[in-house]
Amino acid sequence: MSKMRFFALQELANRRPVPVEYPSERLSDYYGAHVFDRKKMQEFLPREAYKAVINAIENGIPFNREMADMIANGMKNWAKTFNVTHYTHWFQPLTEGTAEKHDGFIEFDEDGDVIERFSGKLLIQQEPDASSFPNGGIRNTFEARGYTAWDVSSPAFIVDKTLCIPTIFISYTGEALDYKTPLLKALAAVDKAATDVCKMFIPDVKRVYANLGWEQEYFLVDTALYNARPDLCITGRTLMGHSSPKDQQLDDHYFGSIPSRVTNFMKELEVECHKLGIPVKTRHNEAAPNQFELAPIFEDVNLANDHNQLVMDLMKRIATKHNFTVLLHEKPFKGVNGSGKHNNWSLCTDTGINLFSPTKTAEGNMLFLTFVVNVLMMVYKNQDLLRASIVSAGNSHRLGAAEAPPAILSIFLGGHLSNMLDEVAKNLGDAKLTSEKKKALQLGISRIPAILLDNTDRNRTSPFAFTGNRFEFRAAGSSANCAASMIVINAAMAHQLNEFKFSIDSLVSQGMEQEEALYKVLKESIIASKNIRFEGDGYSEEWKEEAMKRGLTNVSHVPDAIMRFNDPQSRDVLIGENIFNENELTCRIEVELEKFTKKVQIESRVLGDLAINHIIPTAVIYQNRLLENLRGLREIFSPEEYEVLGADRRELIKEIQMRVLEIKQLVREMTEARHVANRKTSQVEKAYCYEETVCPYMEKIREHIDILELEIDDEIWPLPKYRELLFTK
Ligand code: ADP
Ligand code: MG
Repeated sequence: MSKMRFFALQELANRRPVPVEYPSERLSDYYGAHVFDRKKMQEFLPREAYKAVINAIENGIPFNREMADMIANGMKNWAKTFNVTHYTHWFQPLTEGTAEKHDGFIEFDEDGDVIERFSGKLLIQQEPDASSFPNGGIRNTFEARGYTAWDVSSPAFIVDKTLCIPTIFISYTGEALDYKTPLLKALAAVDKAATDVCKMFIPDVKRVYANLGWEQEYFLVDTALYNARPDLCITGRTLMGHSSPKDQQLDDHYFGSIPSRVTNFMKELEVECHKLGIPVKTRHNEAAPNQFELAPIFEDVNLANDHNQLVMDLMKRIATKHNFTVLLHEKPFKGVNGSGKHNNWSLCTDTGINLFSPTKTAEGNMLFLTFVVNVLMMVYKNQDLLRASIVSAGNSHRLGAAEAPPAILSIFLGGHLSNMLDEVAKNLGDAKLTSEKKKALQLGISRIPAILLDNTDRNRTSPFAFTGNRFEFRAAGSSANCAASMIVINAAMAHQLNEFKFSIDSLVSQGMEQEEALYKVLKESIIASKNIRFEGDGYSEEWKEEAMKRGLTNVSHVPDAIMRFNDPQSRDVLIGENIFNENELTCRIEVELEKFTKKVQIESRVLGDLAINHIIPTAVIYQNRLLENLRGLREIFSPEEYEVLGADRRELIKEIQMRVLEIKQLVREMTEARHVANRKTSQVEKAYCYEETVCPYMEKIREHIDILELEIDDEIWPLPKYRELLFTK
């Protein structure tokens, strides 16, 4: 057996669960201990400084330099109680994951003595020399400066011995280089637009908050096995590997009991999350072997997203302690389910109303219906933009693979609510509503909560499902930054609500009563968006045909899907709602195309290397053994006997020879395709070339290798196999 694989398996055999210690028996003793939250602000800040921060958080009022100094000093004093030595601005560039640059609290005073200091200036703004973050051309190297600026709405926290300050990341010219900046803009836009619509019903609504509850799926692989797989190490997924005789067909992993090594990892992860005020709540096995899920209680979108970023980071660190490696890739293993990250999204008023939650009154339910109908319109009009927000090299293996939402966008409302909407549309006649119709309508609407309680439908195949008090966007990939989809959903919702309000206001200005106008626009919207509603099996072939008939789009070509950011409708949303300016949008598209291109390029190189330098030599060794065996047979047996006895080996030798030649040829062609693609000067053309001319080779090469894996002696196969990778005890 190859040394790497042998030692990895040996290590695996000796693994024992790593014990976990809880800081205290009571969660409330340590929950949020590592967060500079309001309680600690009160304790560590002078009264006026405390008020200044709260005013900034709640009303967006900036504070002056003097206050900033006081806040920084208080924050540092709190951090010192944990022996913290460094601080960092913590931001989310357009790569995967977060970035940080640590600086010590060390400074010299006037006398040249070392002191520990943290000034307001350092708290509020930093200038990381970060010219190598993806920027899509926003930043020329001659003005490579980027700025990070404190996002007061997300509290500072401590990881290890470092104080982390959540920040936005912008260029010298003020343009966004991160996920947080446009996210905050999208949240402000939906707040304003939704508040305006709410005011038509409830005048005292002042703000609307968007909530996010993410569900993070991931795989765990033993670190020793992981290290013996160059494809996993470099690309995050296996580029080859024959399926295990048993994987998920018995459905015995989903919600099954969790192996104790894994439980201990989860426990420690939860403790660390809780210290950081991340309200993680749910843990369970997922459908595939070695696949798991973690979900918190929902929070404000911006905070929830910071928390998801932090969790992904914590997972990786803590897994190492338990001799696991976390795979956040959307499709680490062929043939078993991939990983997604469901985004549960809702809108809530400052008066405590969940706008996607039906109430007991007809009036309340008009508000509910208004928002639900606007979600329908939003998704209907922005299918392409929503898809653009979640496509990536990794997620492309998952979408439409009959295990994850298809590349077609649709909404599942549940049969009852869907019928109810049709009913409502019917009752809302074009002419003035008769009092009878109004009554029927009100009665219908007031029945919503009862109907929803009965409604236990849980369509798992829908990419955008109504789940009783929220919508669940299921197409996002497990490694993605939730902000990517949250920017788009909230901006598109803002845009939709603004259009909705505008239509009503126009009718009112022409002399129609507001109630009448509302009914009219609702009715038209229900009818116009009908095609986006789908209650059936989103994985089925019939749906593909049906969706095409309905005129819904289905794009699985990654660069094509990314380019939809530039469609007129997408531009109306993103530029119209001031989420991006022209330059920022162009750059975003550029960055997405580049990420896709580079990922495929790397995968293709790794596959080429493994094929030529690991697999083919192994195949040749085995072939030689067979040849030797044949020579022995020929020596001992008569030519007639040899003919018969050696037949299968001769066949196998031929077959191995054929596959070796095929693999060599395909790798050569793939390399050439890469060279052609690399010579393209425009990023779009390059990405198209990678999708259309490089990607197809990967499957073809893999197919030969996976068959060789079945044919060649297990003893000499160089890479840990699926059955070893996927079944950790
Ligand atoms: P599932 O059955 O889809 O696995 P979970 O119970 O795991 O559902 O919850 C999914 C996520 O939805 C959790 O993070 C939960 O807090 C969140 N959630 C619940 N209600 C809302 C809401 N009103 N808005 C946003 N997220 C919500
Ligand atoms: Mg869910």
